[in-house]
Amino acid sequence: MAITRTDIEALASIQPQPWPVISLYVQIAQEHVTDDHYSIRVKNLLKQLSEQPGIALSHEQDAAFREDLERIRLFFRDHGDDYGDAVALFCSSRAGIWHVYGVPRAVGNHAVVDFRPMIAPLVHALDHIEPFCVCLIARDRARIFLGNVSEFREVAVRLDQQVPGQHDQGGWAQARFQRHIDEHARQHFKTIANVLFELFNQEPFRFLVAGGTDEVVAAFVETLHPYLSERYVGHFNCELDASVKEIKEAAWGVVQDWLQRDKARNLDLLLEEALSQDMGVVGLPAVADAIQMGNVLTLVLDDRLSAPGAYCLACGAVQPLDQPPEDEHCVYCQGALRKVANIVPVLYANAYRQSASVLFLTERELQMRLEPHGGIGALLRYRLEAEG
Ligand SMILES: [Zn+2]
Repeated sequence: MAITRTDIEALASIQPQPWPVISLYVQIAQEHVTDDHYSIRVKNLLKQLSEQPGIALSHEQDAAFREDLERIRLFFRDHGDDYGDAVALFCSSRAGIWHVYGVPRAVGNHAVVDFRPMIAPLVHALDHIEPFCVCLIARDRARIFLGNVSEFREVAVRLDQQVPGQHDQGGWAQARFQRHIDEHARQHFKTIANVLFELFNQEPFRFLVAGGTDEVVAAFVETLHPYLSERYVGHFNCELDASVKEIKEAAWGVVQDWLQRDKARNLDLLLEEALSQDMGVVGLPAVADAIQMGNVLTLVLDDRLSAPGAYCLACGAVQPLDQPPEDEHCVYCQGALRKVANIVPVLYANAYRQSASVLFLTERELQMRLEPHGGIGALLRYRLEAEG
């Protein structure tokens, strides 16, 4: 089953458990021919995790952990071929957790044991996971597609419309006939807009992209339901009989352009708010504090950002980065800590858990603007009280 945003939200809401939870991400695709690399990679990831869990486990927890490693090994032996691009697996048999999802390759390869699922790779790949809908529209026909970069398909509905052909008549008759065609086209647009809205109710999508001529698309977009208008991100020019691959690539280009503009917009807002010390903060320590307070609406960060730190295995809190705890215990709950070479994924996973939007800056130009501020910032939900 391909993972959805609802699945990720459910995984994110799992609280730390008394039993260890294994999270495994493995890329599969393009190696089906031999199958060797992929199964070896699974074996190596599990072996590495078995030798270096990275957290202290009691005797009973360790026994549960090793049973789960074996369960996962057997699962891949029997079902490893059922997944396309990549697979994400979350397992803690004693805690009643067993989830397997098809995911995009963008998640990478990771094996981690913790006391709750590691969701950072999913948060990072969200733009590749959330579906977009594409509607190719002409005056008398339409085609509808749905999916994401990994899985994209034509939705099977009949969308032809009987429209009278344009006759070569001049003058008044021509003008009247033109209106008649326009009325037909308008009815057709409304029908398609309704089909799209029904589809959205059955299979919600994040973005809507249109394909067609500027003039037709402009008229069509006016007939969209408000829920769909707010998801409409732009259009591309294309022939109605273009291939699915061409359509997916053109539409993904439109989505990416929109995402980039959205990042630039949020970065502008962040810098403005942070510089006026109002509804924004910048720099790792301040952002970590804001996340700990549940005060982050939008997290904006340089995709390359990395910094060491520690987080609590019991409550999940990232420890203050400017004043690290002196002993090995959480400053908030006294729970055991785990030190990591890179605390940034823990931070953005925690931000996602409090329903923040997380925006990764991959464009050099945007990264350079945030660099003087520590490569990370957050738009806040509420204003910080002045200290003192
Ligand atoms: Zn804690």
